[in-house]
Amino acid sequence: MDKHYMAEPYRIKMVEMIKQTTKRERVKLLEDAGYNPFSLRSEDVYIDLLTDSGTGAMSQEQWAALMRGDEAYAGSKSFYRLDRVVKHITQYKYFIPTHQGRGAEQIVLPQLVDKKGMFFISNMHFDTTRAHVELAGARAIDCVIDACFETGTYHPFKGNFDIDRLEKIIIEKGKENIAGVILTVTNNSAGGQPVSMENLHAASAVAKKYDIPVIIDGARYAENAYFVKQREAGYEKKSILEISQELFALADIFLMSAKKDGLSNIGGIIAIKDNTELFEKCRTYVVPMEGFPTYGGLSGRDMDALAVGLQEALEEDYLRHRLDQVRYLGDRLRDAGVPIQYPVGGHAVFVDCKAFAPHIPFDQFPAQSVVNELYLEAGIRAVEIGSFLLGRDPDTKENLKSPLELMRLTIPRRTYTYAHMDVVADAVIAVYQRRNQLKGVAFDYEPPVLRHFTARLKPVK
Ligand SMILES: *Cc1c(COP(=O)(O)O)cnc(C)c1O
Repeated sequence: MDKHYMAEPYRIKMVEMIKQTTKRERVKLLEDAGYNPFSLRSEDVYIDLLTDSGTGAMSQEQWAALMRGDEAYAGSKSFYRLDRVVKHITQYKYFIPTHQGRGAEQIVLPQLVDKKGMFFISNMHFDTTRAHVELAGARAIDCVIDACFETGTYHPFKGNFDIDRLEKIIIEKGKENIAGVILTVTNNSAGGQPVSMENLHAASAVAKKYDIPVIIDGARYAENAYFVKQREAGYEKKSILEISQELFALADIFLMSAKKDGLSNIGGIIAIKDNTELFEKCRTYVVPMEGFPTYGGLSGRDMDALAVGLQEALEEDYLRHRLDQVRYLGDRLRDAGVPIQYPVGGHAVFVDCKAFAPHIPFDQFPAQSVVNELYLEAGIRAVEIGSFLLGRDPDTKENLKSPLELMRLTIPRRTYTYAHMDVVADAVIAVYQRRNQLKGVAFDYEPPVLRHFTARLKPVK
């Protein structure tokens, strides 16, 4: 195992103070939050690992770029600066900005669904992508390799498509009923697991064989490219931009949440390779949904910050440190025997709570119990990805049983240090050592949909 971790390739010139609370305060704060850390105020959180979305630190170049923002309603200079960067990176002909990733999804996905009973196939749909597939009247089918669910076993590319199954699904459903093949890089829902270039080439070739549009859901395409450079033969000497451009060449449409590898607090991207008709449809639709096509829900200054962030995210020192920091946290946990999804992905460490707290039944949400205990231990906010998130069967109203019960420790970009990772590791390990005392949770209030955001829970006696 490589035990070298790159030090921060930056120094800090502005700080935001964070507050430590006492254990007694946290007991009260968690109770008031209904044992659901989503309801905590961020000021009561010491290290916030809820998400890596829009929570990273901008560089001095991005802050400087903010000052150049041109807030013209139409045709702003900021738009044209971002337009040039997106087209340079993707080599696509068309670009439309949106307020964030789901904004891009709500514009593009409905354009691809022209009748009832259509399907999108992805290695794994992200939640909002799945939601927009369904809102567009289609269904989402996941088609990831089985190794993705074997948390303890090493596989360099756990985000890969199961290529044989992809072709089988297309044949079974009929190619005319497949609205698109979505390449999700990295595979967020499985912990930021990368997808190999070989696999992406194969998935794209299958889609092309049947004349199906190929869409990249590329929130973390730069992290994926760095994994490819590290792990896939033949890519060692290629630049991140070259690897990324090889990916873009495989698809027709690129959708991106710029809150991830755009190194920005807000923003989304629609880029279209050369389909003029599709571009014109999206440009018409974006006006009532997001805003005029040269701002798409973003202020001029946001577009300028994003233009800079997109380029910084392609720098190898930045990416190496980014992935090393996540790997460092994963290694510390693994060395202490804590069960995690291994190897770790690009943006998060996933703790396997089915193995962590096997005495807690799935419908008492073992991962939520670990999340809560971690907050009590050290004021760290993580998030449950398991049966609590999954919800109920719409017909039988039974709690659905998730195949994995995970606690996600999501690392914001350029925000915390290795010392913070040590605080997190020590706290998780302390909770692990008393895991037998953990109790499940039950509902006090359960909202009818998306329950994990607003539910109130209580510990089971
Ligand atoms: C975050 C994300 C989205 C949605 O983007 P938002 O900016 O949160 O709306 C879509 N797909 C993937 C893979 C993501 O990680």
